[in-house]
Order: sequence, then C-alpha cells, then structure tokens
Amino acid sequence: MVSSPETLAPPPQPPLWARYGLALLATGLACAFQWLLSPWLSSALFAGVAALLTLVGSRLRSSLHEARAARASALAHRHALSVSLGSIGDAVLTTDSQGLVTFLNPVASYFTGWRAAEAVGQPLSLVLQLLDPASRQPLAPRALPHDEARPIQLGRQALLLSRGGAQLPIEHTEAPLSDPEGLPLGTVIVFRDISARFREDRERAQLLAREHDAHLEAESQRERLETLFMQAPVAICLTRGSDHVVELVNPLGQTLVGEHLAVGRSVRETTSGLDPNLLHLLDEVYRKGKPIVGHEVPLRADFSGSGQHEVKYFDLTVQPWRGHEGEILGTMALCAEVTEQVLARREVEALAQDLQKALQIRDDFLSVASHELKTPLTSLQLQLQLLWRSLPETDAHGQPHPARKRIEATRRPAERLHQLVNNLLDVSRIRAGRLALEHETVDFAALLQDVVARAEADVAGAGCQLVLRAESPVVGRWDRLRLEQVVTNLLSNAIKYGASHPVELSVLQEGSTARLTVKDHGIGIAPESQARIFQRFERAVSERHYGGFGLGLWIVRQIVESLGGEIRVESLPGQGATFTVSLPLEAPPGARPSSGSYPTV
Ligand code: ADP
Repeated sequence: MVSSPETLAPPPQPPLWARYGLALLATGLACAFQWLLSPWLSSALFAGVAALLTLVGSRLRSSLHEARAARASALAHRHALSVSLGSIGDAVLTTDSQGLVTFLNPVASYFTGWRAAEAVGQPLSLVLQLLDPASRQPLAPRALPHDEARPIQLGRQALLLSRGGAQLPIEHTEAPLSDPEGLPLGTVIVFRDISARFREDRERAQLLAREHDAHLEAESQRERLETLFMQAPVAICLTRGSDHVVELVNPLGQTLVGEHLAVGRSVRETTSGLDPNLLHLLDEVYRKGKPIVGHEVPLRADFSGSGQHEVKYFDLTVQPWRGHEGEILGTMALCAEVTEQVLARREVEALAQDLQKALQIRDDFLSVASHELKTPLTSLQLQLQLLWRSLPETDAHGQPHPARKRIEATRRPAERLHQLVNNLLDVSRIRAGRLALEHETVDFAALLQDVVARAEADVAGAGCQLVLRAESPVVGRWDRLRLEQVVTNLLSNAIKYGASHPVELSVLQEGSTARLTVKDHGIGIAPESQARIFQRFERAVSERHYGGFGLGLWIVRQIVESLGGEIRVESLPGQGATFTVSLPLEAPPGARPSSGSYPTV
C-alpha cells in the first residue's frame, strides 16, 4: 500500500538524552549483577557471562543497526517515491482495497478540485467522477485485473467532472496494487489532461466532416454536370490538338455524326457526312483562338438510323479550349438543332419576298396609274377653267349663271381627284428618292394665310370656322410648294375629321425653330393608333365613314423630316387632335433626303 505524503515522512528518532540514559542504565545493571552474583560466580565465569553478554549485545547492536539502515532506506525510498509522484506531470491517485482514496498528487488535486488532505479517506467515485465523452453519462467503475505486472498505459478517454463542476477531457488508466505476498492493497489511477488533443481531434473531425461534405458536394456537382452534359439538348464536343481528337462528346453529339465521332478519334477522319466548312471552322478557332458564335451549319447524316440520309440545320458555336496558362488546348463545339427555325425562317423569307414583290407591283401600278390619270385630269381641269371663263357671270335675268354653278360643282371633286393623284405621284417619287426640295426664303406666316384663303370654299362647305394666328412673319429657308403641301394636308384632315368644329391654326417662331400648330376639336385619335397613322396606307377610321388612302400624313412626315424637322400629334378620342410641326429656320446640311425608305408597306 502507498501511503499519503504524510505517512511517507520518516518516523521521529528517540531524543539523545534517552539514548545516553539507556546506556548508563545498562552499565548500572551490569555492575549490579556483578556485585550480586560475585559470591557464587567466579570471576572467570563472570568474565564468560560478560563475554557472552558482550557477544549478544554486539549481535543485538548489529541487527539494530541493520534494522535502522533498512528503515532509513525504506524511508528514503518512500520519500523519493513521494517526491516523484508529486512532481510528475500526470495525475496520480491511489486507493486502498476498500476503494477509499489514499493518495493524490498535486496534478490530480488540481484536476479534481480536491485537496489531498480532504480527498484521503473519501470514496474514489466521489473524488474522481468520470463521464462518458459521447453520452456525458457517468462511467461505471471497471473491474480491475489483479495483474500488477501489466504496464500502465494511458488509453481510455473520459470527461472528468471536477469538484467545481468543470468538465475536463482526460485519458486514464488503472492498475491494481498488491503487497509482496500478492495480497491486494488497492488501485493506482493515472490520468492526464487531453483537452488540447481533444480540441485537435474535434477540429480534425470537423475538418474531415467538412472535407467529406465538400467531397459529397463536388461529387453531386459532378453528377449534375454529367447529367447536364449527357442530357443537354445541344450537342457538345471537346477536341484536343490540331487534329481535333475527341476528348468528350455527349450522346446528342454522337448521334449527329453517327458512330464515327468517338472519344480518341480525330474529327478529321469523321467529316465525311459534315459540311466541309466545319473542319475549317475548328482549324480557324484552334489557330486564332477567337470563338465563332452562332454559325448555321447544314448537316447531312442518317439521323433516324433508317439508312436514309437527310439534311438538318444546326447552330454551331466553337470556342477555344484553354489551359491554365491561357494556351489553346483544343476546341469546344456546341451545336443545337435549328432545322425547324431555319425552315420557318425560309418560309417567312419567301413570304416576305412574295409580299415585297406584291408591294412592288402595287407601287408600280399606282405610279403608272397616277401618271396615266394625271394627264387627262389636268386637261379636264383646264377645260373646266376655260369653260368657266367663257361663261358670263349672270344669265339673261341677272341671276348667277346656272352653268357656272354646275362647273363649280364639277371643279371641286376634280380638284380633290387631282390632289389624290398628286399624292400617289409623291409616294412614287419619295419611294424612288426623287423628292427634290428647292429651298428659298419663305415667310411661313404669309404662306399659312395664303393656304387658309384658298381653302375658304372647302371650309365653308364643311360648315366649320377657321381661327388663324399668324401675325408676325416667321421667315426661313424652305421648299415653298412642299411647305404648302404640309399645311394643306394637315388643314384638310382637320376639316375632314374636325366634325364641323372650329379649327385653329398658328405659326410662330421659337428661337431658330418655326412651330406650326393645327388644332381641331373633332373625332380625335386613339393613343394606340397615333404612331402608325404616319405610316403609308395606315388609317384609324373606317372607310365607310371617311374616304382616303392613308397617304397624306406619311407624305407630310417625309417632307418635314426632309426639311430637318419633326411632326407629332396629341389627341384623345372624341376630343380633337393637335398636330405640331417643328422646322428649323434653316434646314441643317445633314437633313435626311426624302427617300421614303421607312420600314413601311
Ligand atoms: P387619309 O386622311 O387619307 O386617311 P392621312 O394620312 O391624311 O390619310 O391620315 C391617316 C389617318 O390619320 C386618317 O385615316 C385618320 O384616321 C387619321 N387622322 C389624320 N388626321 C386626323 C385628325 N385631324 N383627326 C382625327 N384623325 C386624323
């Protein structure tokens, strides 16, 4: 059994005076014996007894000496053991055979929170409370093998619940203690703090868990990519080197060119069914490193597997495949089938061509028809004018001549017809880019007054009233006739769609811009129609109610833009319309020549 540090201290020596007193007492006893026995014992015998006593005494002294030496050695040994146990870095705790603590070194005292003096005599389970590291449940005491020779190895891990409630991860082991005869003396328990290792283990475990998670994530990413790659609705093919040796190809890619496009084979050997241009494209991308995007390639192959070759169209994108240093390793081609789109586009293109042709025929017809109409119409108007002039103003009764009235009634529709024909001719001119403008100095205000004066008859016929604001001159350089045409078209529309309400016209100068406004209070224009009415043949009214070709505003816009200006409309259905024309006083040099090249039909 190992004692506590207190029990390991050397036992107290008898004091010096006691030892000398004992010697004197022995000498006195010897003298008394000699004196008492001297009558019966001869001196020789006494000497013999004395010798015997001396011998016995010397023996006693030597065995006493030996016992003292053994005791001193044991004490030294115990002291050394005590010091060793006190100074080692591991915690050591011993119990007796009853499981009561008999010793704990300072390290054990520090970890358990028990002072040695308090712990000695306490049950081991109270001083050394161990928990299972995983479940944090108290650990059941272990039955010890009585094999003291077994080397002590730290190995079992536990959580030590200190007296203060702290939990410390430890590694511990126990060994039985027995006396030389083999009788059990108790147990020695050695343990050490492994919190650093515990932390490291935990961190390593966390690291491993993270690594595992990352691995799983990478794996699932790879699987997703693979699925994407394998099921992608586009053909993907990765080739290496200048011979374009296939590194990767997805199933769709393989079906595109049959079995030939296999991993490890060069695309050069498999181009029999491909557009020969394809190889050229791969070479180009590989050599120059510039991607080719959205190239349409026809491909003739046995797509259905029936042995019949057919042509399909593909949208091809080829990109350089680069290594870490940016060097070109090969090419990556993405190919999506666009046969349906190509066929649909071709159909639309064919339709557009047909439409273009039909429009051309229409324009040609209108151009020819308007030319053909213009000549007889002009002579008809001339004849009417001559007839008008040849007639006297009044008849025999002093009344306005009745024939003049009839001529007047014929002249108005002839004039409208003339305007229509002129419009048709203008369309042809504008479309052909032949709308020549002749710039001269014009007073816009005076021009407006003239047009208004000429329209008086129409205004009166429509039963509406004109309000004109054009007092100050607005002088600029414009084509007079074309400017008149702009005003006339806008004014005749205002009269036509103005529902007999007053029409307001004004022109004024704002800086270097002349601004013409034609405002009516008629039927108005729905917002969704306001942009398209400036296009050719576009109308926002029904033909049954209002006649017309839908050309007037288109022509106005062509003229205005040719003069470097712009036209806009503000209107609400039922609340009239306001057309505003803004023209620079001097047409800028870059003003668009009127060619009618608008995307209109
Ligand atoms: P047209 O008058 O011969 O139809 P325009 O090109 O002059 O052709 O006008 C195109 C269309 O714009 C007209 O059909 C009409 O729907 C609309 N529009 C033009 N001016 C007015 C206006 N002042 N008020 C209402 N609608 C108008």
